[in-house]
Amino acid sequence: MAKGTILAEIERKSQDLIRVYNPLNEDYVITWDKSSPAGAKLFRVKAKKEEVLIRWIAKKYIQEMAQKLITSNADEAVKKENERRIKAGIAKMDTHTEQVAFETPLLRIDDLRYKEILALLYVGIEREYGIDVEAEAEPETPLEPGKTAFDVALEEVEKKKALELAKPKEPALKKPEPKVEVKQKKYKCDFPGCDFSTDASIALQGHKRTHRKNLEDKVKEINK
Ligand SMILES: [Zn+2]
Repeated sequence: MAKGTILAEIERKSQDLIRVYNPLNEDYVITWDKSSPAGAKLFRVKAKKEEVLIRWIAKKYIQEMAQKLITSNADEAVKKENERRIKAGIAKMDTHTEQVAFETPLLRIDDLRYKEILALLYVGIEREYGIDVEAEAEPETPLEPGKTAFDVALEEVEKKKALELAKPKEPALKKPEPKVEVKQKKYKCDFPGCDFSTDASIALQGHKRTHRKNLEDKVKEINK
């Protein structure tokens, strides 16, 4: 691909619509373009609800929410530890020394946990921008230097999903399949350790929701 074509492709991809999920009991608002003279743009993902966002906003949301889940768990643990100390008649942790030592390991989570969090927040591609639904999967792109761990992990989650293309709704009654050989696309679950796969992207999204309860509990338990 020529460089211009690649840039155009990146530009097109950035317009994809991504379905995300907010596991918290409170709404979350993503702020974009703070320094614009026209003012910041705000995008709300309601508590315990899914929302469809354009890719670059979805990415910012997933990044911020993953961080929030990790740090809020650490904050919770710090609070508990201080309460325990007070009850036992010991001084609270010193914020610059003891607390740092206490929370540093809590803020470090392993790859698997991180992928679980991303899989919880990232529900799927709602619609690829300007792509015919019959299009083939795009070839894997090699890792570019300067990519963050977040980029790599998110890409992996996305890749596992194979082709999360917006398919046209199927008629209620199944007509006999035409004789033409159609390569069936498989939609695979991206939760670590799950090997569920299906022919319909909508079925995958339904399946993924069944992981939610379990995963939300796990996220809460990260630092226990
Ligand atoms: Zn699954």
